[in-house]
Amino acid sequence: MNSTEPNISNSSSNKVPPYPVEGSTLINNTTIPDRHTTDVVTAVQYGFYERVIELVEADPQLTTKLLDDNITLLHWAAINNRIEIAKYLISKGAKIDAIGGALHSTPLYWAIRDGKLEMTVFLVSYGAQTSFFDGEGAAGIHIASMLGHSYIVAYLIAKGDDVNFLDKFGLTPLMHAQRVMNRDPTQILIRLGADINHQNPDNKYTALHYAVSNNNYDAIRVLIDAGAKTNIRNSDNEDVFDFAAKAKNSRYLLRLLSELTSSNKVVPRWLEVNRSTQLFGIKLLPYIIIILVAFIVDLEVWFIYKGVVLFGLYVLIRGYMMIFFDDKLQGKAPIAIAQASIFWLYACYIYYFLPYTHVMSFNCIGLLIFTYFSWKSYYLAIKVDPGYIVTNTDQLHRTIIQLAEQNMFDSEHFCTWCLVRRPLRSKHCRECRKCVAKFDHHCPWVDNCVGDKTLPYFTGFIFFTPICLLFFLYGALVYYRNHCNVTSIGLLSAIINCKASVLWFTGIAMLHTFWISALCATLITQILGGFTTNELFNFWRYKYIRLDDGLSPFSFGWKQNLVDLLNRRILWYAPTNFDWAHIYTLDDFNELIPTRLRRSTKSSSNNSPKNSFNV
Ligand SMILES: [Zn+2]
Ligand SMILES: [Zn+2]
Repeated sequence: MNSTEPNISNSSSNKVPPYPVEGSTLINNTTIPDRHTTDVVTAVQYGFYERVIELVEADPQLTTKLLDDNITLLHWAAINNRIEIAKYLISKGAKIDAIGGALHSTPLYWAIRDGKLEMTVFLVSYGAQTSFFDGEGAAGIHIASMLGHSYIVAYLIAKGDDVNFLDKFGLTPLMHAQRVMNRDPTQILIRLGADINHQNPDNKYTALHYAVSNNNYDAIRVLIDAGAKTNIRNSDNEDVFDFAAKAKNSRYLLRLLSELTSSNKVVPRWLEVNRSTQLFGIKLLPYIIIILVAFIVDLEVWFIYKGVVLFGLYVLIRGYMMIFFDDKLQGKAPIAIAQASIFWLYACYIYYFLPYTHVMSFNCIGLLIFTYFSWKSYYLAIKVDPGYIVTNTDQLHRTIIQLAEQNMFDSEHFCTWCLVRRPLRSKHCRECRKCVAKFDHHCPWVDNCVGDKTLPYFTGFIFFTPICLLFFLYGALVYYRNHCNVTSIGLLSAIINCKASVLWFTGIAMLHTFWISALCATLITQILGGFTTNELFNFWRYKYIRLDDGLSPFSFGWKQNLVDLLNRRILWYAPTNFDWAHIYTLDDFNELIPTRLRRSTKSSSNNSPKNSFNV
């Protein structure tokens, strides 16, 4: 692909810049011309509406007049995003698809080339052609793709352009997008149905060949992640590995391709296992470690020997994890640790403590009851959809067109990962790779997002679990008192000498009690204040969060907030049941507030929609 930098000029005046007069770093002359005396081209470029009318009324031929290189006034209006002037020129007979400039482009293509989405929407609404090939054989979607104007790419597809439309030389928009050093255009095209493995009929390159030849690491990741084949050969019989081997930075490229295409190259072939076996391995590991440590500390040998064996175990585990588990799998470790801890603590209780606490005791029955609530909440916190924002193709196209026409089609309002409109209080979760309604945080201990639908279960889990742990610790106390005859907590050596493994389990229980209680207290305080964890941590991103007065615009007082969390009617308090997946602005939210709560809300209704979106 050859360079296609804009090379559009109007040589009728040397002062006229070949780029838009605003927002371009290529303009040296910052002096704004006199709006009363300037020529018509300059008046159009700078948006001097009255001056344009004055000159065009005096000479109506100006709207269709071809300037140098066949450029028209509408071209200059388009690249400078002068909507009102463009509207006026069209009303006076300007040709919407006039072809001019060095690249034989229409005004629409000038607007696309410079990333002017608003003007693109305007010209398309007036029937401007998008499938015409310019002087370089590219149509609108190819120009937008090669220059990284992802929102224009999405808009053109939503309006009906073919996502796999071939340019004059057989290149798809996806191939053109490989020149852009960020993932957005590649990702949007793939999500909108681009054919990933299409080959250029001439040289048989795929989009991945282009990405590798351009050292476009982000695009390489997106393409392979989406299923791009690495074994397709071009007309020189080269696959992307051959291609990478020839590149200047071949070592990095080859390593990246290897990482993306195979689970782990460090492992010898005979030791390679598939993903599900690896996952099983990492889930099993904490179960083995916890019981092995218990076994080692109970060995009747000198304590130095125990220390050496424990250190050896630590080294073994580290090595095992480094070899077999990549970052993604290691992210599964917390949930495995949580489940293994739960399993062994209950096993310890049954094996060691129950003979002393007895089945029908307050301690045992209490533990059983709270275990039911804790486990039920835990199961639901893991399994329930946290409130992922979903869409379908029709709805997506409608959303794109609607946002573009309202001049709100940008990263503030639209997630380019999920291709969904971002609801108020939502956030894209990097781990889940989805936008989550009323996002709180992603919890590795449940390996799920804590969002609109899972917050009650997660809160239940971290509320009931410390209670269970307190029952466990009480069981430990009974055990030490009766089995070891330890009557004072200060007799640490007596405790260790009695049964070190029980001390190990007790230590695990104490650690979990401490941090889960702290987390629970923090989370409940936030919930009662009407905030999510994300809003408090990233308050600077959200215009609707004002921490100066400590109030959330979504809070109706702690009692109502608590009822909303429990989602149950308590006395005369009924839950509000907001559908956070479909509330986009503060105004939307304010309209949905039940009448009985309207006076107690802290939100103001005079926020403009533009200002009330989240990021
Ligand atoms: Zn998203
Ligand atoms: Zn998540």
